[in-house]
Amino acid sequence: MFNIILFGPPGSGKGTQSEKLIETFGLKHLSTGDLLRSEISRETPLGMEAKSLMDKGQLVPDEVVVGMIHSALDANPEVKGFLFDGFPRTTAQSEALDKLLKLKNTAIGVVLALDVSEEELVKRLLNRGLTSGRSDDTNESVIRARIVEYKEKTTVVANHYAQFDKVVNIKGEGSVEEIFSNLCSEINNRMSII
Ligand code: ADP
Repeated sequence: MFNIILFGPPGSGKGTQSEKLIETFGLKHLSTGDLLRSEISRETPLGMEAKSLMDKGQLVPDEVVVGMIHSALDANPEVKGFLFDGFPRTTAQSEALDKLLKLKNTAIGVVLALDVSEEELVKRLLNRGLTSGRSDDTNESVIRARIVEYKEKTTVVANHYAQFDKVVNIKGEGSVEEIFSNLCSEINNRMSII
Protein backbone atom coordinates (compact mmCIF):
# COMPACT_ATOMS: atom_id res chain seq x y z
CA MET A 1 0.00 0.00 0.00
CA PHE A 2 1.11 3.58 -0.58
CA ASN A 3 -0.63 6.15 1.64
CA ILE A 4 -0.46 9.89 1.15
CA ILE A 5 -1.39 12.86 3.32
CA LEU A 6 -2.29 15.91 1.29
CA PHE A 7 -1.50 18.68 3.72
CA GLY A 8 -2.10 22.42 3.74
CA PRO A 9 -4.33 25.21 5.05
CA PRO A 10 -8.02 25.62 4.21
CA GLY A 11 -8.28 26.74 0.60
CA SER A 12 -4.88 25.41 -0.44
CA GLY A 13 -6.40 23.16 -3.11
CA LYS A 14 -6.44 19.80 -1.33
CA GLY A 15 -9.91 18.86 -2.57
CA THR A 16 -9.20 19.80 -6.20
CA GLN A 17 -5.88 17.99 -6.31
CA SER A 18 -7.25 14.96 -4.41
CA GLU A 19 -9.82 14.30 -7.14
CA LYS A 20 -7.08 14.16 -9.76
CA LEU A 21 -4.64 12.16 -7.65
CA ILE A 22 -7.05 9.39 -6.68
CA GLU A 23 -7.88 8.86 -10.32
CA THR A 24 -4.25 8.76 -11.43
CA PHE A 25 -2.92 6.55 -8.63
CA GLY A 26 -6.05 4.47 -7.87
CA LEU A 27 -6.21 5.58 -4.24
CA LYS A 28 -9.18 5.78 -1.87
CA HIS A 29 -9.94 9.41 -0.98
CA LEU A 30 -10.62 10.01 2.73
CA SER A 31 -11.62 13.61 3.45
CA THR A 32 -12.77 14.21 7.02
CA GLY A 33 -14.47 17.44 5.88
CA ASP A 34 -16.53 15.47 3.32
CA LEU A 35 -17.30 12.72 5.85
CA LEU A 36 -18.48 15.34 8.37
CA ARG A 37 -20.61 17.15 5.77
CA SER A 38 -22.20 13.83 4.87
CA GLU A 39 -23.10 13.31 8.56
CA ILE A 40 -24.59 16.83 8.62
CA SER A 41 -26.71 16.27 5.52
CA ARG A 42 -28.01 13.00 7.00
CA GLU A 43 -28.76 14.90 10.22
CA THR A 44 -27.04 12.33 12.42
CA PRO A 45 -26.23 13.19 16.06
CA LEU A 46 -22.53 13.27 15.15
CA GLY A 47 -23.31 15.66 12.29
CA MET A 48 -25.33 17.96 14.52
CA GLU A 49 -22.52 18.13 17.08
CA ALA A 50 -19.92 18.78 14.40
CA LYS A 51 -21.95 21.46 12.59
CA SER A 52 -21.93 23.95 15.42
CA LEU A 53 -18.13 23.75 15.66
CA MET A 54 -17.57 23.82 11.89
CA ASP A 55 -19.80 26.89 11.56
CA LYS A 56 -17.50 28.70 13.99
CA GLY A 57 -14.36 27.60 12.15
CA GLN A 58 -13.26 25.34 15.01
CA LEU A 59 -11.99 21.78 14.82
CA VAL A 60 -14.28 18.93 15.85
CA PRO A 61 -12.96 16.67 18.65
CA ASP A 62 -10.13 14.28 17.80
CA GLU A 63 -12.11 11.19 18.94
CA VAL A 64 -14.87 12.01 16.45
CA VAL A 65 -12.65 12.26 13.37
CA VAL A 66 -10.37 9.42 14.44
CA GLY A 67 -13.47 7.23 14.86
CA MET A 68 -14.65 8.11 11.35
CA ILE A 69 -11.23 7.35 9.86
CA HIS A 70 -11.00 4.06 11.78
CA SER A 71 -14.32 2.93 10.28
CA ALA A 72 -13.31 4.05 6.80
CA LEU A 73 -10.03 2.11 6.99
CA ASP A 74 -11.88 -1.02 8.09
CA ALA A 75 -14.46 -0.58 5.35
CA ASN A 76 -11.81 -0.50 2.58
CA PRO A 77 -9.51 -3.49 3.11
CA GLU A 78 -8.59 -4.06 -0.54
CA VAL A 79 -7.37 -0.64 -1.67
CA LYS A 80 -4.00 0.25 -3.19
CA GLY A 81 -3.63 3.05 -0.68
CA PHE A 82 -5.39 5.97 0.98
CA LEU A 83 -5.22 9.66 0.24
CA PHE A 84 -5.90 11.56 3.46
CA ASP A 85 -7.29 15.07 2.90
CA GLY A 86 -7.95 17.38 5.86
CA PHE A 87 -6.69 14.70 8.26
CA PRO A 88 -4.68 14.51 10.48
CA ARG A 89 -5.17 18.05 11.78
CA THR A 90 -3.65 17.72 15.27
CA THR A 91 -0.69 15.86 16.76
CA ALA A 92 -3.12 13.50 18.54
CA GLN A 93 -4.78 12.71 15.20
CA SER A 94 -1.43 11.98 13.54
CA GLU A 95 -0.41 9.66 16.36
CA ALA A 96 -3.77 7.87 16.18
CA LEU A 97 -3.44 7.53 12.40
CA ASP A 98 0.06 6.07 12.65
CA LYS A 99 -1.25 3.46 15.11
CA LEU A 100 -4.25 2.55 12.95
CA LEU A 101 -2.04 2.14 9.88
CA LYS A 102 0.48 0.07 11.82
CA LEU A 103 -2.29 -2.35 12.79
CA LYS A 104 -2.83 -2.80 9.05
CA ASN A 105 0.92 -3.30 8.48
CA THR A 106 1.25 -0.08 6.55
CA ALA A 107 2.30 3.56 7.11
CA ILE A 108 2.29 7.02 5.56
CA GLY A 109 4.48 7.08 2.44
CA VAL A 110 4.64 10.83 1.95
CA VAL A 111 3.12 14.08 3.22
CA LEU A 112 2.63 16.56 0.40
CA ALA A 113 2.30 20.04 1.88
CA LEU A 114 0.72 22.74 -0.29
CA ASP A 115 2.06 26.19 0.33
CA VAL A 116 -0.27 29.17 -0.33
CA SER A 117 -0.17 32.74 1.01
CA GLU A 118 -2.83 33.78 3.52
CA GLU A 119 -4.32 36.50 1.31
CA GLU A 120 -4.69 34.03 -1.56
CA LEU A 121 -6.40 31.53 0.79
CA VAL A 122 -9.00 34.06 1.95
CA LYS A 123 -9.65 35.15 -1.63
CA ARG A 124 -10.12 31.55 -2.82
CA LEU A 125 -12.40 30.59 0.08
CA LEU A 126 -14.66 33.66 -0.29
CA ASN A 127 -14.85 32.89 -3.98
CA ARG A 128 -15.69 29.22 -3.29
CA GLY A 129 -18.38 30.40 -0.86
CA LEU A 130 -20.26 32.04 -3.74
CA THR A 131 -21.06 28.61 -5.20
CA SER A 132 -20.12 25.84 -2.74
CA GLY A 133 -23.13 26.14 -0.47
CA ARG A 134 -20.68 25.85 2.44
CA SER A 135 -21.66 28.25 5.21
CA ASP A 136 -18.09 28.23 6.57
CA ASP A 137 -16.88 29.78 3.30
CA THR A 138 -19.19 32.80 3.18
CA ASN A 139 -18.07 34.67 6.27
CA GLU A 140 -14.58 36.18 6.34
CA SER A 141 -14.29 35.98 10.13
CA VAL A 142 -15.04 32.23 10.05
CA ILE A 143 -12.44 31.80 7.29
CA ARG A 144 -9.87 33.69 9.39
CA ALA A 145 -10.78 31.52 12.43
CA ARG A 146 -10.09 28.38 10.37
CA ILE A 147 -6.70 29.74 9.37
CA VAL A 148 -5.92 30.51 13.03
CA GLU A 149 -6.92 26.94 14.01
CA TYR A 150 -4.64 25.68 11.26
CA LYS A 151 -1.68 27.72 12.50
CA GLU A 152 -2.23 26.87 16.15
CA LYS A 153 -3.07 23.17 15.91
CA THR A 154 -2.31 21.79 12.46
CA THR A 155 1.09 23.13 11.34
CA VAL A 156 2.70 20.89 14.02
CA VAL A 157 1.45 17.83 12.13
CA ALA A 158 4.06 18.56 9.44
CA ASN A 159 6.77 18.58 12.14
CA HIS A 160 5.58 15.18 13.31
CA TYR A 161 6.17 13.66 9.86
CA ALA A 162 9.28 15.76 9.15
CA GLN A 163 11.13 13.78 11.85
CA PHE A 164 10.69 10.72 9.61
CA ASP A 165 11.73 12.70 6.52
CA LYS A 166 8.30 12.29 4.98
CA VAL A 167 7.33 15.90 4.18
CA VAL A 168 7.65 17.50 0.77
CA ASN A 169 6.63 21.15 0.30
CA ILE A 170 4.93 22.03 -2.96
CA LYS A 171 4.05 25.48 -4.22
CA GLY A 172 0.23 25.63 -4.16
CA GLU A 173 -0.04 28.74 -6.35
CA GLY A 174 -0.01 28.53 -10.14
CA SER A 175 -2.22 26.53 -12.48
CA VAL A 176 -4.07 23.42 -11.25
CA GLU A 177 -2.21 21.36 -13.90
CA GLU A 178 1.20 22.68 -12.91
CA ILE A 179 0.61 21.91 -9.22
CA PHE A 180 -0.80 18.48 -10.11
CA SER A 181 2.25 17.65 -12.18
CA ASN A 182 4.59 18.62 -9.30
CA LEU A 183 2.56 16.44 -6.90
CA CYS A 184 2.70 13.49 -9.32
CA SER A 185 6.49 13.77 -9.68
CA GLU A 186 6.96 13.68 -5.92
CA ILE A 187 4.65 10.68 -5.55
CA ASN A 188 6.44 8.80 -8.33
CA ASN A 189 9.81 9.57 -6.70
CA ARG A 190 8.70 8.30 -3.32
CA MET A 191 6.92 5.24 -4.71
CA SER A 192 10.07 4.20 -6.53
CA ILE A 193 12.18 4.15 -3.36
CA ILE A 194 9.94 1.91 -1.24
P1 ADP B 1 -11.08 23.28 4.72
O1 ADP B 1 -9.79 22.52 4.57
O2 ADP B 1 -11.39 24.15 3.56
O3 ADP B 1 -11.23 23.97 6.05
P2 ADP B 1 -12.54 20.82 5.28
O4 ADP B 1 -13.66 20.31 4.49
O5 ADP B 1 -11.29 20.01 5.32
O6 ADP B 1 -12.26 22.26 4.67
O7 ADP B 1 -12.98 21.07 6.81
C1 ADP B 1 -14.11 21.82 7.15
C2 ADP B 1 -14.29 21.83 8.65
O8 ADP B 1 -14.52 20.49 9.12
C3 ADP B 1 -13.08 22.30 9.48
O9 ADP B 1 -13.06 23.71 9.63
C4 ADP B 1 -13.32 21.58 10.81
O10 ADP B 1 -14.31 22.23 11.59
C5 ADP B 1 -13.90 20.23 10.39
N1 ADP B 1 -12.84 19.21 10.20
C6 ADP B 1 -12.49 18.63 9.03
N2 ADP B 1 -11.49 17.74 9.23
C7 ADP B 1 -11.20 17.77 10.55
C8 ADP B 1 -10.25 17.11 11.39
N3 ADP B 1 -9.38 16.22 10.87
N4 ADP B 1 -10.23 17.40 12.71
C9 ADP B 1 -11.08 18.28 13.24
N5 ADP B 1 -12.00 18.96 12.51
C10 ADP B 1 -12.06 18.71 11.19
